[in-house]
Amino acid sequence: MTSPAAGGPLRVAVVGAGPAGIYVADSLTKKNPGTEVDVFDRLPAPFGLLRYGIAPDHMKMKNLASTLQKVIENPTVRFFGNVELGRDITTTELLADYHAVVYTVGASTDRPMGIPGEELPGSIAATEFVAWYCGHPDTDVAPISLDRPQAAVIGLGNVALDVARILIRDPEELVPTDVPDSVLDALRASQIRDVHIVGRRGPEHVKFTIKELREMGELDGVDVIVDPAHFANVPSELEKNVTKLVEELRSWSTRESTGAPRRLHVHFFAPPVAVVGTDRVEGLAIKRGDGVEELPVGLVFRSIGYLGVPVPGVPFDAENKIVPTAEHRVLGGQVEFGEYAAGWVKRGATGVIGTNRSDADHTVEVLLGDLPHLMARQVTPGTAVELVQSRVDKLVTLDGWNALDAAEIALGEERPNARVKVHTWADMLSAAGFSSTD
Ligand SMILES: Cc1cc2nc3c(=O)[nH]c(=O)nc-3n(C[C@H](O)[C@H](O)[C@H](O)COP(=O)(O)OP(=O)(O)OC[C@H]3O[C@@H](n4cnc5c(N)ncnc54)[C@H](O)[C@@H]3O)c2cc1C
Repeated sequence: MTSPAAGGPLRVAVVGAGPAGIYVADSLTKKNPGTEVDVFDRLPAPFGLLRYGIAPDHMKMKNLASTLQKVIENPTVRFFGNVELGRDITTTELLADYHAVVYTVGASTDRPMGIPGEELPGSIAATEFVAWYCGHPDTDVAPISLDRPQAAVIGLGNVALDVARILIRDPEELVPTDVPDSVLDALRASQIRDVHIVGRRGPEHVKFTIKELREMGELDGVDVIVDPAHFANVPSELEKNVTKLVEELRSWSTRESTGAPRRLHVHFFAPPVAVVGTDRVEGLAIKRGDGVEELPVGLVFRSIGYLGVPVPGVPFDAENKIVPTAEHRVLGGQVEFGEYAAGWVKRGATGVIGTNRSDADHTVEVLLGDLPHLMARQVTPGTAVELVQSRVDKLVTLDGWNALDAAEIALGEERPNARVKVHTWADMLSAAGFSSTD
């Protein structure tokens, strides 16, 4: 079956069911009703970093999943989980079936610090730690052992704040969240009493958002400690949102100790120069003025950014770790019109969930502007899903995901919670309706 220009509906494959991918599907079906959208994801569950990045104690944000769910329930949208582009299907095969393909595969690896010792045991990438506490099936939930009294978190962004907050907050406060039981047990057994947030630059350069920063300053059982000297050279004229951040941090610097059982220290102007240790982390060397000081930490969490990873068959800008685009169209792709990108894989790992919504809208506007070119492409509808069905034994469709979702909600009743994550591949696929012998 070949679709000529005047023929059937526009057919689009979206690769990556994170916020960007689902917003693309939403925008396509709203702006061009009748568009058939197939959304593929390598995981059995949709929602990307909404599920596997956003901190479990930010439950309000996680509720956005119900909005995204409505999109994949749209009658002209289909979800196919456990399908990896480059492993189970190729770009060429997608382009032979769909008028357009939109890459929304996100940014899933960590930016290295490039300092000695960063590979030592006990030096952990934020990507790994976040995936662990979010119950990502690619991480083994058992091995992160929080067995040292002091830990450093390197970075001055919201992910660093998330990591520090999960490490320092009373784990009982995480009981009403979706963290897997094994993560909760590890956090309960944690020896960490002091967390040091370490940043290269000064208070006026932090990338936190004010809500998250204030939340950190209000945690029960935690004293926040900042050296007032760090504010000596902060310019008096700053943008309004920066002023708020600086004033919040300055207020921390004047707080008296309450003798709280756990402490959060913020170190500005402290570029890390080495993770110290022989067999495992024993300290973090930071630059202080003209000298070097060693923080006596036994764990180091590196949180200086997320980077994209190449996907076979998709052009990749190795320097910027993104899919290269011009006006949302992929550069260097297989067809002149037909390949687009949205979300973190296109912009780099910046911006909140909402940023992906407007970004997806812009991508879709360009895609629909290309409609005459797209509809002129010779495609054979149905071939890609046929291939996927023949190659993927445990293909998770909307029904499968809904069954997994229901299993997580049922697990929540035991704790009792809204839901608790099912976190291994085997358990996720089994909850989605596949037995281990399927
Ligand atoms: C730790 C952390 C905390 C955050 N907290 C917040 C917050 O509190 N509030 C907020 O607004 N924003 C937050 N964000 C930002 C937000 O998560 C991102 O803006 C958003 O998730 C980016 O969406 P995306 O769809 O581009 O990428 P992702 O969410 O990463 O989705 C990409 C999807 O592509 C899939 N994929 C990857 N490769 C393939 C492949 N080869 N084949 C098929 N599928 C593939 C992945 O499985 C994934 O589902 C946070 C981000 C992080 C990392």
